[in-house]
Amino acid sequence: MSAGCAICGRPMAPEYRPFCSKRCANVDLQRWLGGVYAIPAVEDDESDSAPVTENDEP
Ligand SMILES: [Zn+2]
Repeated sequence: MSAGCAICGRPMAPEYRPFCSKRCANVDLQRWLGGVYAIPAVEDDESDSAPVTENDEP
């Protein structure tokens, strides 16, 4: 695992660890405060969304 900004992956700045900048730190903060955005959180039930590409029939 390479150490980098938890948000964008750039080299992190000591001041803003584990982020590279205040901006990324804010992004992470907003996730906690404002809820998860841009991240499809919990989706365990996906049964009929898979494209049928296999033919299992003999
Ligand atoms: Zn970053």
